[in-house]
Amino acid sequence: MTVRHAYDVVVVGKGNAALCAALSAQEQGARVALLEAATEDEAGGNSRFAGGVMRFAYAGIDDLNRVTELTPEDIAQSDFGTNTTDEYFDDLFRLTNFRTDPQLSETLVMQSLDVMAWLRSKGVRFVLNYGRQSALVNGKRKFFGRMPIEVSGGGAGLVQFLDKAAATHGIDIHYATRAKSLIMDGERVAGVNASQAGQSVEFHGKAVVLACGGFEANAEMRTRYLGPGWELAKVRGTRFNQGDGLKMALNAGAAPQGNWSGAHATGWDLNAPEFGDVNVGDQFQKHSYIFGLLINANGKRFVDEGADFHSFTYAKYGGEVLKQPGQFAWQVFDAKVTKLLRSEYRIKRITKVSANTLEELASKLEGVDPVAFLATVRAYNAAVQAEVPFDHTVKDGRGTVGITPPKTNWAQTLDTAPFDAYATTCGITFTFGGLRIDPDNGQVVDVHFNPIEGLYCAGEMVGGLFYFNYPSGTGLVSGAVFGRIAGRGAGQAAAARS
Ligand SMILES: Cc1cc2nc3c(=O)[nH]c(=O)nc-3n(C[C@H](O)[C@H](O)[C@H](O)COP(=O)(O)OP(=O)(O)OC[C@H]3O[C@@H](n4cnc5c(N)ncnc54)[C@H](O)[C@@H]3O)c2cc1C
Repeated sequence: MTVRHAYDVVVVGKGNAALCAALSAQEQGARVALLEAATEDEAGGNSRFAGGVMRFAYAGIDDLNRVTELTPEDIAQSDFGTNTTDEYFDDLFRLTNFRTDPQLSETLVMQSLDVMAWLRSKGVRFVLNYGRQSALVNGKRKFFGRMPIEVSGGGAGLVQFLDKAAATHGIDIHYATRAKSLIMDGERVAGVNASQAGQSVEFHGKAVVLACGGFEANAEMRTRYLGPGWELAKVRGTRFNQGDGLKMALNAGAAPQGNWSGAHATGWDLNAPEFGDVNVGDQFQKHSYIFGLLINANGKRFVDEGADFHSFTYAKYGGEVLKQPGQFAWQVFDAKVTKLLRSEYRIKRITKVSANTLEELASKLEGVDPVAFLATVRAYNAAVQAEVPFDHTVKDGRGTVGITPPKTNWAQTLDTAPFDAYATTCGITFTFGGLRIDPDNGQVVDVHFNPIEGLYCAGEMVGGLFYFNYPSGTGLVSGAVFGRIAGRGAGQAAAARS
């Protein structure tokens, strides 16, 4: 016998976007259910794996103070820089080759600060982001990544804070409940068919918000949409984002939007497990390649490691690693930059070799042509513009001349022992393709662009924001902005039907 539940708003997923949607729907007076495919132990989606940096627009101290309370010492001793709305737009436009949807990006950027204050009002705690892209410069703490604030406890902390808020506001969470299809009442979405411990369960609702991620954990869909080879990528986060929500919505006539053959993917430890491990979180990533060289099986470099700060290249370089023979690349560093390597280079589960000479290192780089590697390093060392000062807090313009690909910034000769190398492959984070929504209320539209009554969506499932690349820290903010909008839209629609 099918079990039936009735709510005002049914939200599918339990990551950041879903929790924001649920809290926002509840603000409209709705009775809300959250359906989470994972058990309570594994719940939280990719949001739980996130490092927790968040990119929002701020023009100065007053804006930052809306998000976290800065002490007089913080203010006196720090240079927070800015991430004005113009800077945020510039980054988003440049990285997406000007493809990002104008209305979606406008909504994201213009509401990004306000949503941070809203998250704070829900109990989320933010702290200064000392660990990443900050350094002491002339006695002041300089934050040079346009992201001076992160969630306390990272993505896992964010999910915990929002969980607590959901409990306080009486939102029902159904774990181990996988949404399978939409319940239709004529042309209107009226709920979700789900399975729970081998049983069919119906969740009826006046509105449904889909916030259950992309198809990054589904090898078949990756190959189908991203292309051959993508089945070989490792999954950085949850194993539960199987594309279920996208399939359900497309089956109901929803319009796809965005870069369906594109994904966020980074360098990731070669021997990391097939899916993310919550105990390691994001630490299999290796984001300090800007200070070293990326070497493939042929002993060659294949990207400009120093094209920009890692925030603006890391999300596309995973895909470049996947294209290399054997789908791997070694990141090679010398002792001059050891102190600059991020914390993820010091974890226990790591694929690392060290050597006192480059020749010894060449023999240890498994799978790499040693002769070609040494020739690559010789050519690179000869090409470094040694007269330009090295400064990791700015794009220092210390590049190479006469080699392809060039290294545009932070180029230093590889000559100081000990040498360390880290083996990486491609780790996929999330897929860019999604559904077309009305940015004003988060409502999904059909292929003829008519709103689908009762259907809303948020988070990774929203298509049209990211193409080819992505500025770090935008996923969580986008999940919160569009989660809040979709929850409000769904809550208001439910109220109108009462
Ligand atoms: C390792 C890593 C590090 C990251 N670091 C950052 C960072 O520092 N800053 C940042 O902004 N972004 C970061 N991101 C990206 C960010 O985590 C995502 O963009 C964001 O969390 C997506 O939120 P979401 O709510 O849309 O999806 P998710 O958080 O993935 O939530 C989707 C939810 O849907 C559930 N679900 C799936 N299918 C079903 C179904 N059929 N029925 C019911 N439930 C279902 C899943 O179990 C999950 O709970 C990182 C991602 C990873 C993997």
